[in-house]
Amino acid sequence: MANNTQGEEALLMLSHLYYKILKVNLTKDSHEELKNLDSERSAEMGYSEKISDWFKGFAHSEYIHPDDAEKYLLFSDIDSLRKSFHEGKKYVCCYYRRKVANNFRWVCMELIPAQEYSHDNQIVYLYIRDIHEGFMTDVEEKDFLTRGLNRRGFLRQGKIFMEKAGRDKSYSVLFFNIKGFKAINEFFGTRGGDELLRTIYQHLKKSSLQPILIARSDGDHFYCLIDDTNLNYDDLPELCKITFTKDNKSIRVYARCGIYNITDYSLDISTMCDYAKLAISHIYDEYLKPYAVFDDEMRLNYIMHSEIQGQVHHALTNNEFEVYYQPIVDAHSGEITSAEALIRWNHPEQGIISPGVFIPVLEESGRITQVDSFVLNEVLSFQKARKKAGLKIVPISINLSWMDFYDTKMMETILEELRNGENNLLARFEVTETSYAALSDNEENMIAQLREAGAEVLLDDFGSGYSSFSTFSDYDFDIVKLDMGFVQKIGEDGKIKSIIHSIIDMSHHMDAKVIAEGVETQNQLDFLHRHDCDYIQGYYFSKPLPKEDFVDVLENGLSKE
Ligand code: C2E
Ligand code: MG
Ligand code: MG
Repeated sequence: MANNTQGEEALLMLSHLYYKILKVNLTKDSHEELKNLDSERSAEMGYSEKISDWFKGFAHSEYIHPDDAEKYLLFSDIDSLRKSFHEGKKYVCCYYRRKVANNFRWVCMELIPAQEYSHDNQIVYLYIRDIHEGFMTDVEEKDFLTRGLNRRGFLRQGKIFMEKAGRDKSYSVLFFNIKGFKAINEFFGTRGGDELLRTIYQHLKKSSLQPILIARSDGDHFYCLIDDTNLNYDDLPELCKITFTKDNKSIRVYARCGIYNITDYSLDISTMCDYAKLAISHIYDEYLKPYAVFDDEMRLNYIMHSEIQGQVHHALTNNEFEVYYQPIVDAHSGEITSAEALIRWNHPEQGIISPGVFIPVLEESGRITQVDSFVLNEVLSFQKARKKAGLKIVPISINLSWMDFYDTKMMETILEELRNGENNLLARFEVTETSYAALSDNEENMIAQLREAGAEVLLDDFGSGYSSFSTFSDYDFDIVKLDMGFVQKIGEDGKIKSIIHSIIDMSHHMDAKVIAEGVETQNQLDFLHRHDCDYIQGYYFSKPLPKEDFVDVLENGLSKE
């Protein structure tokens, strides 16, 4: 065996790092203690003459983390150790957690041949050191895919950097994500997807941005902290195009980039990252200009979003939400035949906030179900109370967000109410086309379950955005709501009239009724009436009303001068 003095000397020089050093004779299965800063525990565990007993005693004690005991036993098997050194190993180590003052800390046990080592007399040094701090930092702050930082590491190191950074220079945080990463992942498989992420990481790291820090977080998200002198906006479109080749398949991957130019040094890095991320939703042409810079308007939006999210729970307990009811009338008789429940937020400082403002925020943060459950309970108790008192009732429709369908409690409440038989006519449910698309493939197909249980389901906002006629054959619903955008173009555009006419016809062929939403003028009403639209909802007859006013029109009729 070659002499190992260099390694041995190096370790002895570093001996202050170790809390335990033993000289071990593997051949004789004996040991001699050279350093022990842990004598109390050693005394507790008792003395073992043989090193193999010493190892086993520890592996079976309460001082080793239960998840590491087996690994430790395998490593410290005396025959395996003898074999390793016999085969020429100059270093072996094992990481495990040991208990110190009731907490487990990571330690590292290392074995290295001593100068007098020979194959017939295997003398080695055994060193144990505490590596907890460094190891934890590695585990918690490292992205094991790219071997770079994860978001946590980026935040900690970014904070340290920004505290020291001179204010004479300017910096930016950049956020990148990959367009259609899921599809790429499916195309190349998860391994290929992992390779692509490593490629992107290296691409950004070596780019002209020369990131001071770079990290990957949550799948295909990357953050960079850069010096603004390296930020050339004209270069970004090229930088965002990445070619990836694997198994002779080559594809062009497009990244999008959100940028926050650091102007407010008092912000924490996490907010700066949020700002950069937020800017991405303001990219309008991702091929020509695949980046957006966070600006003041976005900042105000961000503040409003966080305020709304933070205030919802309080607003619910503080009775700040109120359900309004908008009457829906029969197109022929003008009688109220149903109504739509629409939420209003009476904010103590900001006055009435429109659902158009807070509903999208709540959908984004997943809190919409809290509000929709509130509306459901309000509507059901309103209807039940009237029914019990023998007063007039009409079906009231409730808007459901696609997220509500994943809330088992809310869905169970609805199904229970429906199966209760007598309540069938009390509530209807409005679902948009996007929700239909998201939910119909779902195993449980809750929309179908609602209909089977006897509820009427309305297809809301038909004609807005990406509607298509194939919706009629793909999904089942009882009523179609013609989008306000269409209705309000009656009289302006000849084509719209034909489209509306076709939608009404098609719906009737499918045994669905039609409600026209947003009807404001006599002209619109006349057109819809002529084309056999079944029901009308709109300011022409009534705006959404507070409960008491709705009860008044329900009982006494709408007064239309
Ligand atoms: P929506 O479900 O399509 O509701 C119809 C919207 O059109 C309501 O706006 C209503 O006030 C408005 N509207 C009705 N007739 C007219 C008209 O003649 N002219 C004009 N200009 N507007 C008319 P609102 O109440 O602001 O609600 C906006 C959207 O917010 C709703 O669109 C719905 O998507 C959502 N929303 C409202 N309440 C709830 C709720 O309780 N839960 C959920 N998930 N979404 C809700
Ligand atoms: Mg609606
Ligand atoms: Mg609508």
